[in-house]
Amino acid sequence: RRADALARAGEDCRTRDGTRIELFANCGSADDARVAVANGAEGCGLLRTELLFLERDTAPSLDEQVADYQAVATALDGRPLIVRLLDIGGDKPAPYLPIPPEENPALGLRGIRVGFAHPEILEDQIRAILSVEPVGQCRIMVPMIAGVDELRRVRAVLEGIEAGSRVQLGVMVETPAAAVTADLLAREADFLSIGTNDLTQYALAMDRGNASVAGALDGLHPAVLRLIGETVKGADVHGRWTGVCGGLASDPLAVPILVGLGVTELSAAPAAVPEIKALVAALDMAAARAHAQAALACATAAEVRALARKFEGELG
Ligand code: PEP
Ligand code: MG
Repeated sequence: RRADALARAGEDCRTRDGTRIELFANCGSADDARVAVANGAEGCGLLRTELLFLERDTAPSLDEQVADYQAVATALDGRPLIVRLLDIGGDKPAPYLPIPPEENPALGLRGIRVGFAHPEILEDQIRAILSVEPVGQCRIMVPMIAGVDELRRVRAVLEGIEAGSRVQLGVMVETPAAAVTADLLAREADFLSIGTNDLTQYALAMDRGNASVAGALDGLHPAVLRLIGETVKGADVHGRWTGVCGGLASDPLAVPILVGLGVTELSAAPAAVPEIKALVAALDMAAARAHAQAALACATAAEVRALARKFEGELG
């Protein structure tokens, strides 16, 4: 598939029978964005802005943020750039954003909750994103959403900075709450992107960072797949697209299931883009849909994996 993949680097990502799947890449820097584009990515589906905020003594200034986001946008040469609002928390502390010690950092002050606790940081970040040129290249994505009220709060901040803003505002689906209320979120969000790393952690109640349980964390668990399926259905009610920007989007065993569930955007690791593009090009939508339904009916993650390996083998 690799040679096939490189040959397709300049083309849109489509299934064998022509269904359009946007293939984006997760980036942390302009260098990542350049690799992503060279590998055939059609944009950045998750800019990890936390990398700019960690390991420093003061918050990055508005100008620093503008320069950083602009560098990524320029490296993408006009392709869409989905900027995730700051996603740090008790497990990834920054000295200038003191978070009191927490017994359960995964359930504490993290993601957009930090932005609400430090409104000046949230406002500066949104202002910086809105300053990137050309206008319209950047979209804003909110991490760790647990309900529509949080999305409304972010929209209000955005409106306060730029009344009538037309910037696209999407949510990450990382909590079971967001997945099962996807229809409510989709009514007010421009897109939904599933963070399967956190969604798996919260669905299975297993800490990503805890070595004693992390081995059992499997995004192909039927519970996670059912939440992904519910998310797509909820987003469809309001004609919004659902993407995946968690690790499953880079996993060749998972991608046929995701596409079969109706996910239409994948944001993979830059290095994985050629392989995922070739894999999507080998898929037939009817077969992917049937495969996804069979996966939803499996009893365990191990059964889903066995099924996915068989499907992969049959694709050749
Ligand atoms: C996720 O949770 O799947 C995700 C993309 O975000 P992070 O891995 O940064 O938490
Ligand atoms: Mg996450």
